[in-house]
Amino acid sequence: MLEASGVMVFYENMLALNNIDLNCPDNGVIGIFGANSAGKSTLMYALSGIILDIQHKEKMRGGERISLFGEIRHDGEVITGLKAHQRARRGIVLCPERRRLFAESTVVENLAIGGHLASRAQARETMAFVMELFPALKKLTRRAAGFLSGGEQQMVAIGRALMAQPKVLLLDEPLLGLAPSIQHIVVESIPQIRKERKISVIVTEQYARPVIPYVDYAYIVENGSAVMEGTSRELFENPDIKAAYFGCG
Ligand code: ATP
Repeated sequence: MLEASGVMVFYENMLALNNIDLNCPDNGVIGIFGANSAGKSTLMYALSGIILDIQHKEKMRGGERISLFGEIRHDGEVITGLKAHQRARRGIVLCPERRRLFAESTVVENLAIGGHLASRAQARETMAFVMELFPALKKLTRRAAGFLSGGEQQMVAIGRALMAQPKVLLLDEPLLGLAPSIQHIVVESIPQIRKERKISVIVTEQYARPVIPYVDYAYIVENGSAVMEGTSRELFENPDIKAAYFGCG
């Protein structure tokens, strides 16, 4: 179980996350929906610990002050002070927005980088799972990631995160910029990941519509605050939420 309570993030004087409470049970799928700049990536950075790296880098270069408040717990233990690599070892792994692959490395090399902490047997078995999950990658294993389509890159990015043996997979806007047919392949991987690997997934998106059938529970974030939460059905049946986030009235 991954839990956040009272999480607040300030970039200098700008409040990017305001008192966020969130619960992701074991083997659950949670959605975080919100418009551009709502704070989705900041929340993913806070959960994964990357915010601490960003904070440290900013401090070193004398840049803006980033302040964090609140508590993050994993399996009952407070992990707020743990760095991203320490959280990754516990199984909290971020697949970042815009994929951030190593463009000059091949698909297999990108996947292998994700699995650098896994045993050889785990890495081999997970790579086989990734190829099963995304068969389109099978014929692209030796191609440089920079020469893949956006959809293929997203598949590699999810695969790379899976190679790190997550217990909680954080997917930040995995559908960004993808055509609907490719979105479908990416989103369909979520229930498979959950079922076959027993992984919890927290997924952010601007538009909830393609993702909502796959989540158990979701939070709507506006200007850094969770303005509403509920089961996917509860949110889908709310007319305001439906118009704003599902693209229908
Ligand atoms: P998008 O869908 O555009 O990725 P988002 O919901 O992920 O948006 P965030 O990227 O978390 O939103 O940004 C939340 C707010 O914090 C925005 O106003 C953004 O400009 C600001 N912000 C994000 N990162 C920084 C930073 N390093 N320094 C200053 N402000 C930042």
